[in-house]
Amino acid sequence: MALNIKRPNGTEDVVPKDVHRWHTIEKIARETAESFGFGEIRFPTFENTELFLRSVGETTDVVQKEMYTVMAKESKFTLRPEGTAGAIRAMLQNGLLNEALPQKVYYITSCFRHERPQAGRLREFHQFGLEMAGSASPAADAEVISLASTLLSRLGLKNIELYINSIGCPECRAKYHEALKAYFEARKDELCDTCKDRLVKNPMRLLDCKNPICQEIGKDAPLILDYLCEDCGNHFESLKSYLDKLGITYKVNPKIVRGLDYYTKTVFEFVTTEIGAQGTVCGGGRYDGLIEQLGGQHTPALGFGMGIERLLLVMDKQGCDYLTPKKCDIYFATMGDAALEKAMELSKSLREYGYFAEYDMMGRGLKAQMKYANKIDAAFTVVLGDNELEQGKAKLKDMEKGEETEIALNEKFTVVFEEIYFNKIMDVMDVESADGNLFSFMGGEN
Ligand code: ATP
Ligand code: MG
Repeated sequence: MALNIKRPNGTEDVVPKDVHRWHTIEKIARETAESFGFGEIRFPTFENTELFLRSVGETTDVVQKEMYTVMAKESKFTLRPEGTAGAIRAMLQNGLLNEALPQKVYYITSCFRHERPQAGRLREFHQFGLEMAGSASPAADAEVISLASTLLSRLGLKNIELYINSIGCPECRAKYHEALKAYFEARKDELCDTCKDRLVKNPMRLLDCKNPICQEIGKDAPLILDYLCEDCGNHFESLKSYLDKLGITYKVNPKIVRGLDYYTKTVFEFVTTEIGAQGTVCGGGRYDGLIEQLGGQHTPALGFGMGIERLLLVMDKQGCDYLTPKKCDIYFATMGDAALEKAMELSKSLREYGYFAEYDMMGRGLKAQMKYANKIDAAFTVVLGDNELEQGKAKLKDMEKGEETEIALNEKFTVVFEEIYFNKIMDVMDVESADGNLFSFMGGEN
């Protein structure tokens, strides 16, 4: 029987013809983060399980239901379900938090959660995430939210709503927990088993339960905003006024609690209604206690994670532009071994100048080679045979216009090609300026 191994449920492949969609997000995300002073950090795909228990929290869905944990010899490791824990662990272990604050890092990584696969919900998904450590100021919250908002608009996305909330500090949370306990206690018997346990250990997690009955019971639960202490209340008010100054539209949604335990004060989500139930493209917030909890000094911090697959779903839906994939600049169709060697030599020089050059690898006839050149949409082609080699020159064909130019097959080949290539680009730009596009591109006016 033939071997027929398929990729695991809830994972995806990306083939070369689609990868430019990923490159678009990765490039714009990097540029945006770097323009706000964030540097890239890389850390392992798996960590000691203990790290996630301590940070994400033992009563969260992620820890209770979704982690991929493996026993390797006598150690227990978990594939990262999210980026923050690993990023902070790496910042601590590499002494970044002893350097000038704030420390600002970003990452583009895979995350793993054992969930029920559906549109926008995978078992291996990818996040663009970032963390800023050191600042307790609401200006930092505004900065991080502004970065996310800038990125979404640079990707060309529209109609993504920003929801913000404050879930307070341990002080206000203690009072809130009492109120929640009292509220849920009345209908305790109807709660799911996990929530019965949560009622004792961490009542706020009840608000995050996906069970429809628990959600229904939780509809009129007390709201955290009514329990904020003065400091948390002021922090939230300042954040709102900074967002107003930055012209960032938001709605306060007192029901956002976020699914990870480490959050304090500000939490936020960017949500779209255009891709079905999995509409949260970005989630984040402040986590002032986490670094201390992981063995560092008390250091206020915050961050967010954006789901790249969900961003792609919205970008596709909204018809956003992607970077154009690079195409073949020049293809050599060869006849015979000497011609093939010439093509190798010329391609080597062209590639050193940054051009995308190809020649036949399949030993095909001329007609089939030209068909291939068409298929890969080569901008120029050159046919090389015994005649061309003897005369030391060949015809360079502009595939779009059909025009042919004679070109010497010597050490000047690349330089001459560059000139012809440049003229072609200038022609294209002339056509565009006649349409008025070049002016708008250059920011000029008519
Ligand atoms: P959700 O409520 O949709 O389960 P979450 O609160 O579990 O999201 P976070 O832990 O905040 O999500 O992760 C940040 C972002 O990562 C989410 O806003 C989403 O865009 C993305 N994300 C989370 N889980 C998945 C998944 N299983 N598949 C694809 N993307 C995901
Ligand atoms: Mg989730």
